[in-house]
Amino acid sequence: MAKQYDAIVDQPSVLKDGMHLPLAINVGNPTDIDSMKANGAEGVGLYRTEFVFMGKAKAPDEDEQFEAYRYVVERAKPHLCVIRTLDIGGDKPADYLEIGEEANPFLGWRAIRICLDKPELFKTQIRAILRASHYGKAAIMLPMIISESEVLDSKALIDEAKAELRTAGMPFDEAIEVGIMIETPAAVMQAERLAKVVDFFSVGTNDLTQYTLAVDRGNPKISDRYDYFHPSVLYAINMVAAAAHANGIWIGMCGEMAGDPLALPVLLAMGFDELSMSAPSVLKVKYLMKSLKVDSVLLDDVLASRSAVDTRARLTHYLEKIKLK
Ligand code: PEP
Ligand code: MG
Repeated sequence: MAKQYDAIVDQPSVLKDGMHLPLAINVGNPTDIDSMKANGAEGVGLYRTEFVFMGKAKAPDEDEQFEAYRYVVERAKPHLCVIRTLDIGGDKPADYLEIGEEANPFLGWRAIRICLDKPELFKTQIRAILRASHYGKAAIMLPMIISESEVLDSKALIDEAKAELRTAGMPFDEAIEVGIMIETPAAVMQAERLAKVVDFFSVGTNDLTQYTLAVDRGNPKISDRYDYFHPSVLYAINMVAAAAHANGIWIGMCGEMAGDPLALPVLLAMGFDELSMSAPSVLKVKYLMKSLKVDSVLLDDVLASRSAVDTRARLTHYLEKIKLK
């Protein structure tokens, strides 16, 4: 670990003026949580639960899921652990779900679409998450949302799961927050309405970039065109942040962009309330934060960029100026 990082591991992540912005980690395998403290993070902004479902002959039952979720929630304590409901499909297979061959898996039967079509699968997971919420501070996050009705249908199933646990006398956090990933252009355009029916947003820039730009996130031939600094992606993110705050909910980011130091000044200017990233990125971002303040002039400058290359040049110039100070 670089020497300058040692001193900040146990410090809260603050800007130059002392403003606190929590930096959280993304978790795949439950044991990823074990490195949270050593990496100087405060909580989990994205727990990708599909890892509990992959490489198995059948879906894990409620108790098996509960143990996996409780493990992470307990270790994230006293910080928040945002648990994303199943985002299987796309690039993440599970034979027992019989997704079958699809011409466009990323546009196919995945994530919330599977869960709403298989309510028992969804409710089993929700009950396991709710039970884990008793052991710390958890939130439920729904992936791949494209419309308000999906949120309302999901919330109705969450209410059913809560009622079942009450009947069974199983404790859970009655005030658990329910949020959504913003990772489709459809969700961006509906952000004002969606913000009225959820407790938080988290921007998934990995998918949002691919769907906004119509560039496959996994195709090396076009990887130079896959860039979250493209002006259209920045516009989308800025719109969503404004819609969240206009409606009094918090907004985080859990796609790769959140852990990119070059993106940090612009995400601060957009007013993000939390950034969640792979564990090794936390200290880099935390260290840079100490030299930055929220800068609305920078936001205007970046939103005027003409291409991803142009955005990168503007932000590189900005950070160089700060380092010279
Ligand atoms: C995203 O799309 O940005 C995201 C965080 O989800 P995943 O990478 O798991 O699709
Ligand atoms: Mg995604």
